[in-house]
Formats: sequence, structure tokens, C-alpha cells
Amino acid sequence: MQTQSGSLLRSQFLRILLMATLALQIGCSPGPSAPDGQWPQGGRNEDAAYFSPLKTLAETNVDQLGQAWEFTNFVVRGRTHRGMETTPLVVGRVMYVTGPWSVVYALDATTGEEIWRYDPEVDGGYARRGCCDVVNRGVAVDDGIVYIATYDGYLVALHANTGKPIWKSDTFIDRSRSYTSTGAPRVAGGNVVIGNAGAEMGVRGYISAYDLKSGKLSWRFFTVPAAPETGDETPDVAEARKTWSTDSRWDLGGGGTVWDSMVYDREENNLIIGTGNGMPHPAWSRSPGGGDNLYLSSIVAIDAATGRKKWHYQTTPADSWDYTATQNLILATLKIGGADRKVVMQAPKNGFFYVIDRINGKLISADKYTHVTWADRVDLATGRPVLAPVSDYSKKPTIVWPSEFGGHNWQPMAFSASTGLVYIPVLEMPMKHETAPQSYKPFSLIQGSIPSGRPFDAQDAALMKGQPKSAAQSVLKAWDPVARKVVWASRPGPFGNGGVLATAGNLTVQGGIDGYLYIYRSTTGKLLRRIYIGTAIMAAPMTYAVDGQQYLAITAGLGGSLGVERLDGMVSFERENRERLLVFKLGGGAVSIPPRVTPQALRSAPKEYRGTAAQVAQGRRLFGDHCSACHGAEGHANNFPNLWNLPPEIHAAFNDIVLRGAFKDAGMADFSDVLTKEDARDIHAYISEPLKESRGP
Ligand code: CA
Repeated sequence: MQTQSGSLLRSQFLRILLMATLALQIGCSPGPSAPDGQWPQGGRNEDAAYFSPLKTLAETNVDQLGQAWEFTNFVVRGRTHRGMETTPLVVGRVMYVTGPWSVVYALDATTGEEIWRYDPEVDGGYARRGCCDVVNRGVAVDDGIVYIATYDGYLVALHANTGKPIWKSDTFIDRSRSYTSTGAPRVAGGNVVIGNAGAEMGVRGYISAYDLKSGKLSWRFFTVPAAPETGDETPDVAEARKTWSTDSRWDLGGGGTVWDSMVYDREENNLIIGTGNGMPHPAWSRSPGGGDNLYLSSIVAIDAATGRKKWHYQTTPADSWDYTATQNLILATLKIGGADRKVVMQAPKNGFFYVIDRINGKLISADKYTHVTWADRVDLATGRPVLAPVSDYSKKPTIVWPSEFGGHNWQPMAFSASTGLVYIPVLEMPMKHETAPQSYKPFSLIQGSIPSGRPFDAQDAALMKGQPKSAAQSVLKAWDPVARKVVWASRPGPFGNGGVLATAGNLTVQGGIDGYLYIYRSTTGKLLRRIYIGTAIMAAPMTYAVDGQQYLAITAGLGGSLGVERLDGMVSFERENRERLLVFKLGGGAVSIPPRVTPQALRSAPKEYRGTAAQVAQGRRLFGDHCSACHGAEGHANNFPNLWNLPPEIHAAFNDIVLRGAFKDAGMADFSDVLTKEDARDIHAYISEPLKESRGP
């Protein structure tokens, strides 16, 4: 982002943004603990703490860590490599990992040899319906069945031994809307539960629970109300409706999607979910004169048997800043004020770290884990944030911390039962917001605000007054959830980071977009070692043991909301970006590094596609609305093809691609529903204008 001009950045942000044994006294796992060497569900145990009790790998021997094996045979469609956001699971001797396009791979956990794969053959046309790439964040495994949620909305149960489908259920309620599914399903009681994404694309949030064996829908929980005539007024929806104005923008869906975190509290038989932002972003546009807009940006406990709400806590009432509470939730028992408290913890985008009593939903503490300027503090008596004047951008633009990327995004934080600390992958950046009019456009980004990141223009200097010094960086912070303070922080790295693993070996492991895997001493934050893998890391690492051998696994590959960004420090400028699964062990070998990026000579477009100034101007506007979300502005393509450097045969096939879906399978949908032949010609004219420099592949 430091590499781009303010206006370009603004358009970039418009496009992307949109973008969490050793019981001791400090923490113990609720529910049954997995055997030490296993990692059978998201976050390892039901507490979802991303903590392993394994300690063979320790600070005394991390220097002997080397590559055990690598798996790279992921499904790639077309020439576009996609993001890897998944943490593998290990059950017995088998590793289950997912890749782009919701493909599931079962691998021998000791060798990486493929046992089976399941490709759901996701409809490529759905790529256009998502904000942030055709990524997947993993499977659930229970009683010999693997559950995968596909990008295009199907929940599929597979035989764990063979990968053969058992049942398949359609989880989308409306296929005319931009629902997509990237999260891992969660097993809760006798059900498997899945949500979806699309809060920036005009959808209404909900989760669905399916019977583990039959795949029949058990219940569905809507996170926000719809237009009253929709007629699905459950008591929980009726309660939420009281916090919305009658003239709310029901046409835009409301948002509140549950696209990532869900945890199961077995003792209470509660599924606890985190919900997303509202649609459009500004509360004054979404629900004029309305209230808190429940259950947006909330932590909600739902009876796993009935689907009825037990309690909720809203982190950001009347959210206007894309402050989702979808970040990972961790269950723990903490000694607070001399008493054991059963809690759920979250570091949502809004910059406060929340500790909540998971029996009754009451707030215990909420403290800033990073720069926060939209609110001064959270009042523990009322549980509500005390808003700062800069939170209101209804009349004029303002700048607030954190940005729309959040102080913390989907990259999981970890809670160590050994140290009692939470390790948070923090993002630090301010953001300018201004209100913009918004109407519904199918399959298009809908925000109702113009968010823009740094650097800010000279005219923004006044808005920066009273704000911390501008920055765009990633920091790993160790947070004490009882003492409510930062214990240590890593050296800042480039903006864009990976999830975290903590181990009983006193190790905290995290990757970065700079292509390094960093290993820290958990107690003090001392960097013990960094391993160069040459590929950007976004996912959280995991560790497991088979036959007494401890392994460390990480998936790598740039994509997600960062796949359209060009940020300082991204290793993808130097090394070819590709989907990878790397597994390390003590005494392993040299680490594989991908080939260097080969600079390409810029090809100019054949003259016949050039256009008049008017056509180019119109093409530029249409490109901004429909193409730039992936292809980037003026050669700023990152993961996606640079349209200013197309070979002649692609120019010749332009209309077949844009209007007839020739490359739909690879994710380039047919745009004939929104673009005419004349529009396609104008876009073609725009991208046929020579560029001064080529900045993408
Ligand atoms: Ca969002």
C-alpha cells in the first residue's frame, strides 16, 4: 500500500476489503481432549485454542528443524494460483487438508503420499460472487466421516477412508444472491453446522445445522431480520427486529454473515458463533434512526439441539466500520479474581480483546490490544463501547483505527495452556471512511462507504489530528487475558500476516507474507528461528506426532483478500506464488523454494482493439466496476492475469471470455448479465491503451 497513490489505494480498498492436557490452573480444555499427537478438528480441541501439548520440538532444538515432505499437487484452474487459508487436520495417520476450489486431500501424515482426493467440481461462475478468492479453511472430521463445505454452497459428507460421498445438502437459501462458503464446518452435538459469506455482496446472514448421519436440515439460525413480508419470524428474529428501523435497507440483505468462527461448548451444549458486519456499512444508511442492529458483529450462543439463541454479546453495536466479530473464538477456564471462570475469548476486528462468561454471556473484560480510536473504552457496567467523535463519518470523512482489515482478521490467534497467554496476529493500520450512496447490483461489491488506507492525502492532515502515527504493519502480540495487557510484541513486519500455533515446547509459530515461518519463545517473544519457504503464509501452522515423531505443518500460498493487493514485502514479487503444504521435522532436509519470478516483456495490444477517448473513458469506468476486483488497476494485477499484457489469442477471444464464459471454469465468469457487447468493446479499448510500466505477470 505504500507503493500506491492514495486514489489508487482507495479503489483497491473498495475492491478488497472487504475484506484463534496441560490443564494446570491457567486453562483447561472443555470437552474431551484429543490424544497429544492428534489434531482432529479446527484449533485441535473443542476449545479451538490452536495449542498442542507436544514438546519434543522445543527451543533447544528448533535449529535442527528441516523439511520432512511437501505436497504441491493441488487443483489449479487456468493459470491462476489461489490462496491457502487452511490448517490441516490429523486423525490417526491421515492428514486431511483442503485447497482452493474446496478440494479435499487425504494424505499419509508421515510421507505426504496421497490416499484420496475429493473434488466437488465447484461452479467456476461462483468465483465472481465472493469478495475474497475461492479459498477454503478446512474440513470437520467425526466418526469416520469428513465434512466439507463447498464454495458454491454444498455441504458434503465423505467416507474418511475412501473420500466417497455419503450425502450432499444445499446450504444456500437463495442462489440469485452472492452467497459463497469458505469456512470449515463444525460438529456440535448431533449436527454439523456451516455458515457462509457475502456481507459485502448483499446477503442475509444465517447458519444451518445438518444431522451428522443423514444430512437432513436440523435447524437454521438467521443472524439478522429480513423484510417483514419474508415471514420467517422466529422469536430470535423478532427480538433482533426491535433494534432495526422499519425502513432498513432489507434489499441489501443486512449482512451479519457467519463466514468463519464457530465453537462448541459441550458442557452447555451451545454452539457459539461470531457474526459479521452489516450491509451497507454505515448504520445511518443501513437502518436510519435504528438501534444496535442485532445480531451484527456479535458473539451468539445457540442451543445446539434446537437452534434457539441462549445469549448474545454485541461487540460493535450499530457497526459502521466493517468491524466483524467473525474472528476465531477460544474457550478456556481462567482464574479471574480468585475464581475459575468458564470463558470465551475473541479479538474481533474492532481492536478490543473480549473475555466473556460463556455460561451467561456477560462481559468480564474488554481492552484495547492495538490502536483503537473509534471508541475510547468499553464500559464494563453496560458492556457498551464509549464512542469517540471520529466514529461518526455520516456528515464528513473521518479517520479511525483499526482499519477495515481489522486489528485482527480471520488468521487464527492461539491460547497456550502452558503460558496462559493469547498470541494475536495483529494488523495495524488506520482507515479513512466516507459515506457513499448504494444500490443493489447483482454479484457486485456493495459497501455504502468509501474506505481508503494510507498514505493519506495532504488534505487528510486535519483528519489525522489526534490519531496515532500512521502505519501499515503486522505485529504478533502476546496478550495476558487475566492481567488484560500486552506481555510482548514481535518486531513489526509487512502488512498481511498468518495465523498462530502455540505449543507446550514453549514455541509460538507464525508465518508472514514475506515467505518466512517465524518461531518465537512463547514466554518472552525471543525470535528463535525463521525459516524461508519463499511463499506467502496466511494460514495457522499445526503440529502432530506419528510413531513418536513430531511434525510441524503449514500451508502456504498468497490469495484471499491479499491476492489482489500489491503490498511492500510480499514474497510473490520474487518467487512464483503457488499452493503448497510443507511439513517439517527434526533432522529434516533442505526446504524447497519456488522458482524466481521471470520478468516478462510487455506485449502491446493489437491496434484494432484501440478505441476513442470516450470509449477508453467509459471502459475505465466499467473496468473499475466489474474487473478490477480481481485484475487490479492498470497492470497492478497480483494473483490474476495482467490484462495489459495479454497474448494475441486472448485478445482475439476477448468477447468469448467476457460475454460467453469461455474461462468460467477458472473463475472468470460470463458477465453478459451486466455488460453489453459495446461495454466489452469499451473495456477492451481501455486495456489496449499502452502502459508506461508493467507491474504484474
Ligand atoms: Ca466485511
